[in-house]
Amino acid sequence: MLYAHDTQEALVTAAALVNTGVETEDLPDVPALLAWLDEHRMSGVRRGTRTELVEVQELRDRLHDVWRAGSADAAVPLVNAILADAEARPYLTRHDDVDWHLHVTASDQPLAHRLGAEAAMGFVDLLRAGDFARLKTCAAADCEAVLVDLSKNSSKRFCDTGNCANRTHVAAYRARKRTAG
Ligand SMILES: [Zn+2]
Ligand SMILES: [Zn+2]
Repeated sequence: MLYAHDTQEALVTAAALVNTGVETEDLPDVPALLAWLDEHRMSGVRRGTRTELVEVQELRDRLHDVWRAGSADAAVPLVNAILADAEARPYLTRHDDVDWHLHVTASDQPLAHRLGAEAAMGFVDLLRAGDFARLKTCAAADCEAVLVDLSKNSSKRFCDTGNCANRTHVAAYRARKRTAG
């Protein structure tokens, strides 16, 4: 496996969070946030307040900035700042049916801290491995969604949010057919 399971999960969750704000606002209110947290099996304390929602939306922009940083050198200070602001204190834990794994902040810390610290730890692993380029934006012409390419040969180009790979291939096929005809 390319990266530890919890690293992969942290990065996929970070991309999913960024993508809630790319084209439409998918987290417009507290119930939408709570549903998103359930969908991504995010444990720990939730206040379910407007402030919590705004904090998560602000964090989302900071995570997006890491994707948009353009280089590892530009991404590092952003990641370090997220870690510092989240007051990350990594520790090993096991719970439910998951064996020893890393938690980065205590479960009673604010939601945006926990989401931020976990995403940042995922970025840390990527950056230490020289893999900043795995943070990609979807190659489809009309899609701004981000993705983390965890494929062995770094060949993933399209996001998982829409049907982007398929749409792009169909469009290319039609263009070829037009040229041929
Ligand atoms: Zn856990
Ligand atoms: Zn896409």
